[in-house]
Amino acid sequence: MSGGGDIMWAPWRMAYVSSEHGDGYEGPRCVFCRAPREQDDARTLILHRGEHAFVIMNLYPYNSGHLMLVPYAHIDHLRALDAATLTEMMTLAQRAQQVLEDAMHPHGFNVGVNQGRAAGAGIADHIHMHLVPRWSGDTNFMPVMSDTRVMPQHLDETYALLKAGFAA
Ligand SMILES: [Zn+2]
Repeated sequence: MSGGGDIMWAPWRMAYVSSEHGDGYEGPRCVFCRAPREQDDARTLILHRGEHAFVIMNLYPYNSGHLMLVPYAHIDHLRALDAATLTEMMTLAQRAQQVLEDAMHPHGFNVGVNQGRAAGAGIADHIHMHLVPRWSGDTNFMPVMSDTRVMPQHLDETYALLKAGFAA
């Protein structure tokens, strides 16, 4: 592979998922099941809640504004999603694109699903669609970015920016 493909299909790192709660925690271990139940969208980085799916920022983004469209249901295969959920995920992708275009003016997007660990899914048990804004020339620094955790302050600023877009 070359170019954007390297970025889209590289594995996720979500080691923070298991370390965030102590041994007494009894809620869902899956971050995509847990985040919507925590009722703290600014902390969990949920930007928008739909009926069947929600929009959440990636804690380890490939690029600034890297979002994910995620069904509430804990389902691991695209083909197991019902039509209403599939439709809403794509509708949310359209809405999210609009918000990102208005707020960050990207030149393009990568949109895709990594299904299964062999395909690079970090959370293989709960399907999710990536929406990654791209800017001309950003591939030059992406290999560095992909190994660097974005500072929380930066994520918070992006969250505030995009949250305003979804609220508009
Ligand atoms: Zn789940």
